[in-house]
Amino acid sequence: MKKKGGEEEKLIAKAAKMIMDSKKLIVFTGAGISTESGIPDFRSPGGLWTRYDPAKVATIDAFRSDPKAWWTWIIDLGTGVLDAKPNKAHIAIAELEKLGKVDCVITQNIDGLHQKAGNSYVLELHGSITTASCTRCRASYPRDQVLELIKLGEIPPLCDLDAGVLKLDVVLFGETLPPLVFQEANQKSMACDTMLIVGSSLVVYPAAVLPKLAKDQGAKLILVNMEPTDMDDECEVVIRGKAGDIMSKIVEECKASLPLKKTIIIEGPKTSVEQ
Ligand code: NAD
Repeated sequence: MKKKGGEEEKLIAKAAKMIMDSKKLIVFTGAGISTESGIPDFRSPGGLWTRYDPAKVATIDAFRSDPKAWWTWIIDLGTGVLDAKPNKAHIAIAELEKLGKVDCVITQNIDGLHQKAGNSYVLELHGSITTASCTRCRASYPRDQVLELIKLGEIPPLCDLDAGVLKLDVVLFGETLPPLVFQEANQKSMACDTMLIVGSSLVVYPAAVLPKLAKDQGAKLILVNMEPTDMDDECEVVIRGKAGDIMSKIVEECKASLPLKKTIIIEGPKTSVEQ
């Protein structure tokens, strides 16, 4: 056990050094980063796919053929996602931004937790649950307004303007990714020198192409994930474990490598000067 701890420490130190040495770091995240916030991922034991058939609920065809059943599913999942708070891993990534180390976060998640944690530049490949749009006229509604309609029993919720069915602005299977966001994510991935991947099985395409693009353009990859992925062999560092613990340790190590601020205490008047 002791040996394992030692190995993990070495990997954490190596990841921290790569982060601190990087000039353009991208963070790429998936559902696994949010499981410690109480939001189930898709493929882990107990994940959503062990409880639901993705073909029946998470596709655009399922939404179109029975919007009422789709919204009932969303409401069933709902409160956990809506009330979730960022966990240690999200906070660690926000800390990395404060250290000036994050060029941007690219996420497959729709939960908005990176923004809640404090990251300012987040590319949401699969949209977000913060808004919904009319499927007919594209009018946009804040989520809270939609929740009010649902509370009043309007399922599916309908557009005030033309009674079109509202859909959360999340990308379902069978839909294309928001083109400008995906284009920017491609450019960012090709331009980064280091990509830190946290909590993704890396099997959902086209999102999963981004780490490969980064690697092909010469970037180094760090992967923090509970289970093995097909990209493990492509990564400079692979750390297996809970994202919250591992990411906190990595950030502590990054901070520890910063030059110490000297505090000069001037005798007499109560003044101190930081250098
Ligand atoms: P996935 O379910 O395919 O894989 C999640 C990965 O995270 C797994 O390999 C698992 O081992 C790992 N993991 C789980 N808990 C972890 C933890 N605490 N620490 C470290 N690793 C952990 O998820 P994916 O790769 O993101 O792809 C699936 C799709 O799921 C994405 O398109 C995303 O849009 C969607 N999704 C999003 C949310 C969310 O917004 N929170 C939740 C469920 C699904």
